[in-house]
Amino acid sequence: MDTITLNDGTTIPQLGFGVFKVDPAETERIVSEALEVGYRHIDTATIYGNEEGVGRAIAASGIPRDELYITTKLWNDRQSDAPTALKESLDRLGLDRVDLYLIHWPAPVHDNYVTAWKSLIELREAGLTTSIGVANFLVSHLQRLATETDVVPAVDQIELHPAHQQPETIAFARKQGTAIESWGPLGQGKYPLLENPVITAAAEAHGKSAAQAVIRWHLQNDVIVFPKTNHRTRMVENFDVFDFELTDAEFAAITALEAGGEGRVGNNPDDSV
Ligand code: NAD
Repeated sequence: MDTITLNDGTTIPQLGFGVFKVDPAETERIVSEALEVGYRHIDTATIYGNEEGVGRAIAASGIPRDELYITTKLWNDRQSDAPTALKESLDRLGLDRVDLYLIHWPAPVHDNYVTAWKSLIELREAGLTTSIGVANFLVSHLQRLATETDVVPAVDQIELHPAHQQPETIAFARKQGTAIESWGPLGQGKYPLLENPVITAAAEAHGKSAAQAVIRWHLQNDVIVFPKTNHRTRMVENFDVFDFELTDAEFAAITALEAGGEGRVGNNPDDSV
C-alpha cells in the first residue's frame, strides 16, 4: 500500500475505505469485509452514526492496532466541546486513540472553528489522536488557523473529484504542508463521472473500470482517497488500482473535466452550519 507522509512525520495509507451513509446496522459486516479485502484505513465520523460498527469490525478483525489507520470527525455542534466529543467517539470505536481527528466543517457562522482547532492541538498533545486536521476548509479558514495558532493541519479533507477540483484550496494547503484528502472521489454517484467518455476511454485503454481510472487519477495527484461502497465486488475493484498508471495525456484529459461550482455535489463550506 502506498503511503503519504504528513507534516507531523506520520504516514497514512493513501487508499482507504469511507463509510458515509453506511447503515449503522450493516457497518460491522461491511467494514469487516473491507478489512478482509485488504483495506487498513477507515474514514468515519460521529455524524455518520456508525462508529460503533466500525469499532466492532476492528475488534473482530484481530488486526494489530498499529496496522490500522482510523479517522473520525468532530461534528459541528460540538466545536466548543471537542475533548468530550472525542472521548465519546473513542468509547464508541472501542479505541484509546484515533490516528486522525478532523473538524468536519468550518461552520463559519458560529465562529468556533479556531477554538475547536486549539482543542484538537491539546488532544493531540494528550495522545488521544496521533494527527489532527480539518475537512471542508477553504483558503480563508486555513488562513485563520495559520494566523491564530502555530499548528498547521496535517490534512484538509475536501470534496474533490474530476468535476470539482478546488485548485485554490489545494494550492494553498500544499504550500503550507497540509496534505489533501478527497471526499466524494467518485462524485458520490450523483455527478455522472463514471459514464464520461474521457474516463471510460482511459479505463478501457488499461482494461480497468471507470471507477478504477478515477481512483488512479486521485492517486497520481498525490491525494488520499477512500471510496465508499456496500458491495464486496466493488471493494475489491476499488482496491485493485496499483497495477496500472494513467498516461500523462489521460491524466490531463481527466483533469480537464473540472466544472468548478457546477460540479459540486455537496454543500458549500461557507454555508455549513
Ligand atoms: P464516493 O465518491 O466514494 O461515492 C460512493 C458511491 O459511488 C457509492 O455509493 C456507489 O454508488 C458508487 N461506487 C463506489 N464504488 C463504485 C464502483 N467501483 N463502480 C461504480 N460505482 C461505485 O462518495 P462518498 O462516500 O461521499 O465519499 C467517500 C468517503 O469520503 C465517505 O464515505 C466518507 O468517509 C468521506 N466523506 C467525507 C465528507 C466530509 O464532509 N468530510 C463528506 C462526504 C464523504
